[in-house]
Amino acid sequence: MKIGLEIHIQLPTRTKMFCSCPSTGSGGPNSRICPGCMGMPGTIPVLNKEAVLIGIKIAKLLNCTVPDIIWFNRKIYFYPDLCHHYQITQYETPIAGKGVYYLGKKPIRITEAHLEEDPGIVTRSGDGSLTDYNRSGMPLIEIVTEPDIATPAEAREFLTALLRDIRHVIDLPDDGERTIRADCNISMTGSERCEVKNVNGLKNVEAALTFEAVRQTKVIKAGGKISRETRHFDAERKVTTSARKKETVGDYAYVCESNLGRIDVRKLTEGVVHKESPKNMAARLEKEYGISGKVSEQMVNTSVKLAELYEYLAKKADAASALKCVTGPISSYWKALESSADEKKEPLADIVVQFMNDRINDVECSIMIRSLITGENIERTAALSEDLDALIKRAIADNPSVVDDYKKSEKAANRIIGFVMKETAGAYPSADIVEATKRILDRM
Ligand SMILES: [Zn+2]
Repeated sequence: MKIGLEIHIQLPTRTKMFCSCPSTGSGGPNSRICPGCMGMPGTIPVLNKEAVLIGIKIAKLLNCTVPDIIWFNRKIYFYPDLCHHYQITQYETPIAGKGVYYLGKKPIRITEAHLEEDPGIVTRSGDGSLTDYNRSGMPLIEIVTEPDIATPAEAREFLTALLRDIRHVIDLPDDGERTIRADCNISMTGSERCEVKNVNGLKNVEAALTFEAVRQTKVIKAGGKISRETRHFDAERKVTTSARKKETVGDYAYVCESNLGRIDVRKLTEGVVHKESPKNMAARLEKEYGISGKVSEQMVNTSVKLAELYEYLAKKADAASALKCVTGPISSYWKALESSADEKKEPLADIVVQFMNDRINDVECSIMIRSLITGENIERTAALSEDLDALIKRAIADNPSVVDDYKKSEKAANRIIGFVMKETAGAYPSADIVEATKRILDRM
C-alpha cells in the first residue's frame, strides 16, 4: 500500500493573498470581497509578502530548497467558485522544492509545496447554487508528499506531527478560523491510485484511507481493476464515492501570471527567523539533558511552553531535579500555571534549586510548588497533602499488587487514583490525587 498526501493549509496572514480584504471576520457571505478578489476587469493582483515569508518558513521546516526567483501561474478552469476563471498558483517555481520530513526515523519525502489562492465556496441549494466569495483569494500553501506513507494510521501520525510543527513555526492558531484539508492518494501494490479530495480532520483522513484500502483490496481480490479516479469522502457515513475520472495536468492550461512578474526572494529567505519546531526541540532536549525521548516528547506535546520551562529550570538547577518537578507537580498543575508560567518561573527555579541541594525533600518540594501555583498558603496545602497521602497509602496497602504492576506500567496507578477520587468525592483536585499517587508509588 502506498499513500501520498496533498495538504492545504490556509495561512495566518491579516489580509488575503492578492488584495487587501481581511482574511477573517464574521460579516456573513460575500462580506469580505473587493473588485480584486471578485476578478473584475482592470484589477491587478498585489502579492502578500507575509504569505511568501510563511511559505519560506514552511520550506525550511520541511528541509526543502527555496528558489532564488519565484513567479506565479494562472491555472485556468471554469467553475463558479473562481470569479476570474483561473486560480493564481505556483506551477513552475514552488516556494519549496524537494525536501524531507522525518516521522521518528522514517523519512517522508516532500515533493514540493506551493503558494496559491483558495477559491470561493459553492453550495448547492434546491433550485440552484449559492456562491460565497469570502474564501476566494485566501492564502494557501499546498504541501505535496511522495507516496512514502505505509498505512492509514501512519498517515494520521504523520499529519499530527507535521501540523503540530507547522502550527508552532508559523504561529497558526488552532481556533478553527483557518481550515486544513487533505487530498489523500492511495494505491495498492501494482495498481492505479485513487485520490480522495478535500478531507477535513485527522480522524477523517485515517477513516477515508482505511475505507479506500478495504474497497480497493476487495475489487482486486474479485478480479476487478482499480481505475484512476477522484473520489469524495462522506464524513457521516465514513465512505468514499466516485466523483470523476482523475484529471491530469493536461486538463488544465497554465499560463504565467504576468501581472505579478518575477519575484527575487533571496533577501527574504536570508532574513527569515526560523523558530525551532516542537519535534526538533524534543530531540534536542533528549540529547542535551539526557532525558528519555518519550518524556521529552510528552513535555513538548503538553505544551512547548512547558518544555521551555523545563529547560529554564534545568539550567538554573540540574536536569534531574528539574525533570522530577516538571513531570510531577508542575505537569499536574500545568493548566493552572500555563498563563502565568513566565512570571512564576523564577520562584519555581528557587524551589527546584533547594530540592537539588537537599534542603527540602520531594514532598516539601511538591507542596511548595503547588502552593506557588494555586496561591493557597503552604500550611494548608501541607495539611491537605498529609491527609491525602495517608489516604493513598491506605489504599495501596489494601491493594498491594499495585506496587509491582506500577513498575511494569504506569497505568496501574489509575486503580488507586480512581478509588481515591471516588472516596474523597471532589474534596481534592484530581491533579493533586494523580500527582501524589505517582509520587508515592515511585518511592515504593
Ligand atoms: Zn479582495
